[in-house]
Amino acid sequence: MKPASHHVTVCRGCRAPICWALTTANGRRQPVDAEPTDEGNLAVTQGADGKLYVRSLTKAHPEPRPSEWRAMPHFATCTSPPPRRSGGGGQRSTSGVRPVPWQH
Ligand SMILES: [Zn+2]
Repeated sequence: MKPASHHVTVCRGCRAPICWALTTANGRRQPVDAEPTDEGNLAVTQGADGKLYVRSLTKAHPEPRPSEWRAMPHFATCTSPPPRRSGGGGQRSTSGVRPVPWQH
């Protein structure tokens, strides 16, 4: 399995292909490398709602399910992470869309 092409976008920092997935733990958006890798410690799957979901693989359950694929968090591979935004304000707020701290 791998992400559907419409899920793939590019990192604003390093232009690598990434996907945004929601963590099953807390529903936050997390960038993961679009290309599956056996080295990844994340399991990504497309939910019934068409969104991508990501969870961490643990030592107890290290294998992805058949519907999942293994991916690397883009944090780990980004060669040009955007600088952390200091403070706040000035950012237009679109209702319903929460700002993502990591994304520039
Ligand atoms: Zn990047």
